[in-house]
Amino acid sequence: MIEIRNLTKKYGNHIAVDDISLDIKPGKVYGFLGPNGAGKSTTMNIITGYLAPTSGEVKIDGHDIYKEPEEAKACIGYLPEIPPLYVDMKVEEYLEFVAELKKVSKDNIKKEVERVINLTRINDVSSRIINNLSKGYRQRVGMAQAIIGSPKIIILDEPTVGLDPNQIKEVRDLIKSLAGDHTVILSSHILSEISETCSHVFIINKGKIIANNSIETLSNYFNSKQVLEIIAKGDLNKCKEVIEKIEDIESVTVENGSEEGTVNITVTAHYSKDVREDVSLALSSEKISIFEMKEDTKSLEDVFLQLTNEEGEE
Ligand code: ADP
Ligand code: MG
Repeated sequence: MIEIRNLTKKYGNHIAVDDISLDIKPGKVYGFLGPNGAGKSTTMNIITGYLAPTSGEVKIDGHDIYKEPEEAKACIGYLPEIPPLYVDMKVEEYLEFVAELKKVSKDNIKKEVERVINLTRINDVSSRIINNLSKGYRQRVGMAQAIIGSPKIIILDEPTVGLDPNQIKEVRDLIKSLAGDHTVILSSHILSEISETCSHVFIINKGKIIANNSIETLSNYFNSKQVLEIIAKGDLNKCKEVIEKIEDIESVTVENGSEEGTVNITVTAHYSKDVREDVSLALSSEKISIFEMKEDTKSLEDVFLQLTNEEGEE
């Protein structure tokens, strides 16, 4: 549905998008996840034909976005970071105008506008001037204009920014309901946003794709091992020796604790095996007391932080 090859965008000496290549298949919801300044909006602006790349190629449903912009753009509905609203217009008026631009046939315009107004739940404000709407409603009008004409591809740049929790839930549900009939790409700097709505994630950092996985693969990969942080009272070497004898333990590290006579132990289990009971029984059988034991499971949030920090500062 979308093919991106060696896409690069430079602003002077600054590389905002650095040699990105990726493929987007039909009917799924994709997430661009990355911290602020990662290059998400720049990439989306290039894919949608708003911005020219420094080099590289983008094909939308087989059409090059620069050589055949009309055909390519006809496949896309886009909600940019700042929604392209005509603030002096009434909501309905504006959406009718967008429908015309998107070449919805004259007979269908009213019906199509009504459809997107219902989908995005802006019925209450449809006859109001856009300028007088709250941020949440404006964002939904922005969603409505992206969905009009039912384009094959819907691209949403940080669609829930500035919304309250109820509105966020509505937008997420709406995005999920678009999957299947549409290919959806959305960006966010918030992991939970992506993991809840997308089936595939591209993690972007400093203009590069640093992970390209299904959400499932990503969370499985990093949740695969149990790690225990233990504070115990006993002999350092004895602690290590006792735990190492337990089956399904991958590694044990020990160091002196901050309190006299205590040991800080880190235990990593094989796979997702829960070794808490084995470890506590083994230690107590040697009369080693456990003062504290906690499970340090890696969340997707940690994965994201780890991946985006690994590159280090430039
Ligand atoms: P994101 O959407 O992931 O927050 P952006 O794509 O907006 O990131 O920005 C990527 C990088 O490009 C940032 O370092 C940003 O400062 C820079 N940038 C974006 N737009 C411009 C511009 N018009 N001129 C110069 N630098 C820009
Ligand atoms: Mg952005």
